[in-house]
Amino acid sequence: MKRVYNFSAGPAVLPEEVLKEAADEMLDYRGCGMSVMEMSHRSKMYQTIIDEAEADIRDLLGIPDNYKVMFMQGGASLQFAMVPMNFMKNRVADYIITGQWAKKAYQEAQLFGKANAIASSADKTFSYIPDVSDLPVSEDADYVYICENNTIYGTKYWTLPNTKGKNLIADVSSCFLSEPMDVTKYAYVYGGVQKNIGPAGVVIGIIRDDMLTDDVLPGTPTMMRYKTYTENGSMYNTPPCYGIYICGKVFKWLKSMGGLEVMKQRNEEKAAILYDFLDNSKLFKGTVEKSSRSIMNVPFVTGSDELDAKFVAESKAAGFENLKGHRTVGGMRASIYNAMPKQGVLDLVAFMEKFEKENA
Ligand SMILES: *Cc1c(COP(=O)(O)O)cnc(C)c1O
Repeated sequence: MKRVYNFSAGPAVLPEEVLKEAADEMLDYRGCGMSVMEMSHRSKMYQTIIDEAEADIRDLLGIPDNYKVMFMQGGASLQFAMVPMNFMKNRVADYIITGQWAKKAYQEAQLFGKANAIASSADKTFSYIPDVSDLPVSEDADYVYICENNTIYGTKYWTLPNTKGKNLIADVSSCFLSEPMDVTKYAYVYGGVQKNIGPAGVVIGIIRDDMLTDDVLPGTPTMMRYKTYTENGSMYNTPPCYGIYICGKVFKWLKSMGGLEVMKQRNEEKAAILYDFLDNSKLFKGTVEKSSRSIMNVPFVTGSDELDAKFVAESKAAGFENLKGHRTVGGMRASIYNAMPKQGVLDLVAFMEKFEKENA
């Protein structure tokens, strides 16, 4: 068996311990004679799995009692519609455009009402997070929406926007559980799990109680109302059972590692190794303004498309997978989520040093 260093932005690397445990339980989950994939979601066995998953993520994030946790499907992209359908009561919402995912959410909201782009970093190819301390927040906005970590461009909000009293809603797909998060700062926060938590097909939402009403936009389908999830323990219909089971294992792995404060230290340390190298390299350079750098997704370039392509090919041959940048950006991107070991980053930097020497 050979495992590569997988720098994919998502679906992405998962902890080896989790994969091994799942493999061990594949044919016979804890003596019940079947796989978790094959069992009824209404069984006691499965109820324990989803209950433990919820309890563990609550524990990890310190989620207060007045917030509900939902396990949903449809990817982060379905949330782009669910958010306005559930929350755009005045049919006005403010969006901060820091990349493709924020822009898609903003465009989707326009299907339902007036979505205002109150700030954007499109002028410099989304290489920074705009100043969000004093935004022209709309008087009648139902919420202010952000994408907190921009997977494609490698930027992250290190200070949340001043929403001037409006509800903050955030897509945290690519920084979910990478560090502690103060849930009380958000009215609703969600993420697709395939970036840092588990298999594609699961979206986790954390919603403040007062955001749950029947006063959703007319025509909102049952499966797109948040209340449908909170009132049915995320099991109005068959949930993505196996995906939730793996997420639950990752939550337990995170707890065994020492929790999110420890993950934050580890992630900062890994990111610093890579950024320090980029800042001192004569060939490679990071593409993001320093104060906006993500510790999860690190884009970089050589300045030559040819050398970029050569680097991607040679790194792949050397066992570093998925370093090619997003198709809309080019260059390279190393996604160094929770499950990427420090050694993976050290080895990557050593490889980059060698490449730099050979191509000087
Ligand atoms: C990947 C990603 C998405 C899209 O996720 P899907 O599950 O493919 O819909 C949305 N937002 C962010 C921040 C992402 O990283």
